[in-house]
Amino acid sequence: MNQNTIDRLLKNIISIEDKKQKIFVDINTITVTKYPYKHNKNSEMKSYIYKIILNGKEINKKNNYRIKYQCLFCQHESIVNLEVFTNKMSNNNKKCQICYELGNGTKMIKNCEEIIKNSQSIFMELDNDMQDNYFRKYLTLEEYEHLRPHICSFQNDKYKNIKDFEYYPYIKIYEGREFCPKIYDMKRDVL
Ligand SMILES: [Zn+2]
Repeated sequence: MNQNTIDRLLKNIISIEDKKQKIFVDINTITVTKYPYKHNKNSEMKSYIYKIILNGKEINKKNNYRIKYQCLFCQHESIVNLEVFTNKMSNNNKKCQICYELGNGTKMIKNCEEIIKNSQSIFMELDNDMQDNYFRKYLTLEEYEHLRPHICSFQNDKYKNIKDFEYYPYIKIYEGREFCPKIYDMKRDVL
């Protein structure tokens, strides 16, 4: 994300709350720092990982802060964990969850690949607590992979070629529908 966008994003911060202590922190001193990051050893592509500095202290990935900010794109206010916010900078993602939801309303979703990608973007925008809650109900990918060797078939022996199926823990097929896990049939391209 370029510096100009970062500056605008920082200006759009409304408040930062320490969830645990239930106190709002002073956001006047907020700045960011960035670390170069290579996708892999041989990659030419260089990006940055951003970290927030509050009162002169760099905030780690694991923290209890929740941030309220106004989206640069759709102007809606969102509340997300601070980590989600900094990930946006690192991923150069200017959109918020509402952007994606608004976008989905007007755009026709064409194929499974798009549904999967879309679902992922929306899910990643959710608060960590909401994600944790979700996985209290449904299997994570790791849990599925763990179980996979013991799965013999799907739908009453209808499908036995388990290796042709991929598990996606969170899929949102239509706007307004809740997330649910789906099995993707790679050969037939259906969820
Ligand atoms: Zn937005």
